[in-house]
Amino acid sequence: MLAYIGLGSNLNNPKQQIKDALIVLNDTQDVKVVALSSLYQSPPIDGSKQPDYINAMCQVDTHLTALELLYVCQGIETKQHRVREKKWGARTIDLDIIIYGVQVIVSKQLIVPHPQIMNRAFVLAPLAELEPNLKVPVLGPIQDLIAKLDITKLVKL
Ligand code: AMP
Repeated sequence: MLAYIGLGSNLNNPKQQIKDALIVLNDTQDVKVVALSSLYQSPPIDGSKQPDYINAMCQVDTHLTALELLYVCQGIETKQHRVREKKWGARTIDLDIIIYGVQVIVSKQLIVPHPQIMNRAFVLAPLAELEPNLKVPVLGPIQDLIAKLDITKLVKL
């Protein structure tokens, strides 16, 4: 199964945090990172006073179920000492399952495609870099989704 995982960090050397997470992800049994976007920098979405975020998107080829993949992502977050202080607070690392094949999942633990992607340029831009003609399950062509967003504050590094 091909899946897309979004990575984000704005604390403790964000670029290194993303690199470290990718190494662990790729070293996980039944998970191979097969593509990686550029890094993107953007200010916090809520306008609060915290460091800019660095985001990236990777494509993984996996034999894990979506839920197993979520647990892997959460394990990496825990390992890299993510502290869940408040919902939109600064974070060492955040991994979200953005897309899992063509599956549409709505459960207590997992919603796929990720419910916030249509509002997040820092997710859609790196995703479109990897897959410019992607049709996002339920939501439609990625280029149509990006066209509705303000991408002026997003810097491709
Ligand atoms: P966050 O703080 O943004 O990382 O959200 C974490 C919570 O979102 C966890 O409780 C997950 O179970 C839940 N969640 C729902 N859908 C997803 C998804 N597609 N990827 C990652 N976490 C998800």
